[in-house]
Amino acid sequence: DPRLQGISDAIRVVPHFPKKGIMFQDITTLLLDHKAFKDTIDIFVERYRDMAISVVAGVEARGFMFGPSIALAIGAKFVPLRKPGKLPGKVISEAYELEYGNDCLAVHVGAVQPEERVLIIDDLVATGGTLSAAIRLLERVGAEVVECGCVIGVPEFKGRRRLNGKPLYILVEPR
Ligand code: 5GP
Repeated sequence: DPRLQGISDAIRVVPHFPKKGIMFQDITTLLLDHKAFKDTIDIFVERYRDMAISVVAGVEARGFMFGPSIALAIGAKFVPLRKPGKLPGKVISEAYELEYGNDCLAVHVGAVQPEERVLIIDDLVATGGTLSAAIRLLERVGAEVVECGCVIGVPEFKGRRRLNGKPLYILVEPR
């Protein structure tokens, strides 16, 4: 797809953020580039529009920057998967391990109905820990996770394209 190069070029790499040694993939510059941003959304929409998906679940925080546009275009609802203490209603949460320490994702009870077909969106997959927790969380509420979609994926995932047995769709590799 000729659009992918423009998407990759619009991502800024910030060395040593948030700590030394990390080459941070900054998608805020992609959001500033109307063509690259629109191409990103369009590619996801072309893939998911006919897959009977009724829920797009976005992972805090950068999944919120892509998920709602995709949801509107494919006729699905948007459900935020949030960090602890952010959702005001009754929640179900799923803990997961990070490189240093733990984190947790939560979803409002009732936001996703059993049997609903869900697409999970995040900006980047590295170890897969975050998306694995998102999959577990949604499966616990009885949803069917159709696929995870990410703008950026490390080469291991670009090659493997599966996570917890679920398909993983990635547009570009880190720069
Ligand atoms: P994982 O759980 O796959 O190891 O890490 C993925 C999560 O960390 C995603 O939610 C993603 O937003 C965040 N993340 C880790 N490194 C980067 C990075 O270099 N750039 C961006 N934009 N997000 C990152």
